Amino acid sequence: MKIAELFYSLQGEGSLVGVPSVFIRTSGCNLRCGWCDTPYTSWTPEGTEFTLREILDEVGAHPARHVVVTGGEPMIQPEIIPLTERLRARGLHITIETAGTVFQPVACDLMSISPKLANSAPEGPWRAQHERLRIQPEVLRQLMERYDYQLKFVIEKPQDLEEVRALVEALGAGRNRVILMPEGTDREALRGRAAWLAEICKEEGFRFSPRLHVELWGNRRGT
Ligand code: SF4
Repeated sequence: MKIAELFYSLQGEGSLVGVPSVFIRTSGCNLRCGWCDTPYTSWTPEGTEFTLREILDEVGAHPARHVVVTGGEPMIQPEIIPLTERLRARGLHITIETAGTVFQPVACDLMSISPKLANSAPEGPWRAQHERLRIQPEVLRQLMERYDYQLKFVIEKPQDLEEVRALVEALGAGRNRVILMPEGTDREALRGRAAWLAEICKEEGFRFSPRLHVELWGNRRGT
């Protein structure tokens, strides 16, 4: 499996924010978000081939009970099912971070689904594929039915909420499972958006998530 990076850090987003976790970042994505904060897994995918045994050995070298399989899009990896089954056999809590465009019957304790809103659309030749794939309602329903889940949205502007409300309603998701995060890859941009986004969360009953890793370390690899 092509791995962009494998590291030990704190979960920076969502309901498990702050939990020490090993991150397995797979390389390769079927989307091309204009603001992608890991372009080395999407626009210009990089990485090293690891066997499942090598991944498990590396995970086992850290004192974590939680593992996060992220990307890129981990659900397009051919070996994602055996990888998650072997992580489960080790008794680890598994979070999968996915955009929710592909279903695979993986072993997973928290399906962290981040559907991509219209604000993610890139300019240029990738736009048509990105727009065709980014919202797959049947895949989202399947993931929500089968797994404990959270729906995470990256919010750039207040108008993005119209799309969030419509999708959450169409999917029948509880608002307590919907987590909104400010868009931004530096502290100033995050804080600027966090101020108004926090008020929206209070008014509408959505959950707010910081991006702790950016706050602590900036937008750096391996964090
Ligand atoms: S889905 Fe994630 S990894 Fe893929 S392009 Fe969008 S932000 Fe980047």
